[in-house]
Amino acid sequence: MVMTEVKHPRWCDLSLCTAGQLLSLHRSTPRRIEAERLGDVTVAAQLSCNADDPLPEAPVSVELLLTRTDHTSVESYRFDERAARRLVGVLDDLLSETGVVNVGVSA
Ligand SMILES: [Zn+2]
Repeated sequence: MVMTEVKHPRWCDLSLCTAGQLLSLHRSTPRRIEAERLGDVTVAAQLSCNADDPLPEAPVSVELLLTRTDHTSVESYRFDERAARRLVGVLDDLLSETGVVNVGVSA
């Protein structure tokens, strides 16, 4: 058996990487989104890519992780780079409307 050295993207968190395992993924450290109004859900995002694909061609995804604070469920939504950029654009568009106030002029 020939052991080949696994190469990791520079963003890969080796403690979370599962390269060579059944679900072979490079993963970055999740970045938690701190917010007070999320209720009992924590939201985090991380990069991931299939570790069986050669670097740097392996498509990188942004994974959105939703975890209940009592750990009863974990949901994960994976966006490819294009979809992730669209999501950012939509959120940015929506947020740009929050500062716009219609001011009624009273005579
Ligand atoms: Zn890795």
